[in-house]
Amino acid sequence: MSTIIMSGCATGIGAATRKALEAAGNKIIGIDIRDAEVIADLSTAEGRKMAIDEALKLTAGSLDGVVLCAGLGTQVKPCSKTTSVNYFGAVELLDAFFPELKKGHQPAAVVISSVASAHLSWEKNPLAAAFEAGDEAKAGAIVDAAGDQGGNLAYAGSKNALTVAVRKRTAAWGEAGVRLNTIAPGATETPLLQAGLKDPRYSESIAKFVPPLGRRAEPSEMASVIAFLMSPAAAYVHGAQIVVDGGIDAVMRPTSF
Ligand code: NAD
Repeated sequence: MSTIIMSGCATGIGAATRKALEAAGNKIIGIDIRDAEVIADLSTAEGRKMAIDEALKLTAGSLDGVVLCAGLGTQVKPCSKTTSVNYFGAVELLDAFFPELKKGHQPAAVVISSVASAHLSWEKNPLAAAFEAGDEAKAGAIVDAAGDQGGNLAYAGSKNALTVAVRKRTAAWGEAGVRLNTIAPGATETPLLQAGLKDPRYSESIAKFVPPLGRRAEPSEMASVIAFLMSPAAAYVHGAQIVVDGGIDAVMRPTSF
């Protein structure tokens, strides 16, 4: 049995992933704002510190995996909450758990990014410098001042930076024997997507976002890919972003990959 720390396991993709990983015989230590072993708010530095300390205590010195699902969507106000949870709520946890993961059995981590990570490039990401400097207040101030575009910028900008942060850790994590990958889901039937559909600012663009497969994904269809990446069957998959989007990225950006 492996011990895996998960964030965002209360609903949606995280809940389905928890179920799949538990069915495969793993012990899960969940971090979430509700329904988890560790109740913590990842939108604040104090919440993240508490989450890290409590989750590590519960591992009792044995940690083999990390799966980070917690995230907020475009509709959340203030937008700075989205940059805090989606970027700092993932990167700070990854770095804090790395030393323990190195001692784990066939250790691996998966971070949930998004197809939106490719909606802008790192070079043109207005949040890149703030994220790279670890300046949470600055990243938040940029999106909170962006008016109607704040929600999209906070979401796509934080997911772009999250995938970059994972890719920049690939060398050090690989040398330490810890596999680290992201998945980039497309539209998936979860509370986050439903909240976006209910917001008049985003409902039309989300509704139009229909992939070639002609339907949105079920959370279990993300969970099965995450469970694969966490398993020894993916022993040579490292530093990859696996796009799980029913084909929409290939349609939107056929020459970029
Ligand atoms: P969801 O809302 O069902 O899940 C998000 C989880 O994060 C919940 O368990 C929630 O309680 C938790 N969470 C939110 N704010 C938190 C906070 N401040 N502190 C701690 N936990 C917090 O939505 P989902 O769609 O399952 O999202 C999971 C991940 O998938 C997110 O990172 C999201 O960005 C990503 N994603 C979703 C879609 C989609 O279409 N649903 C597409 C691409 C990427």
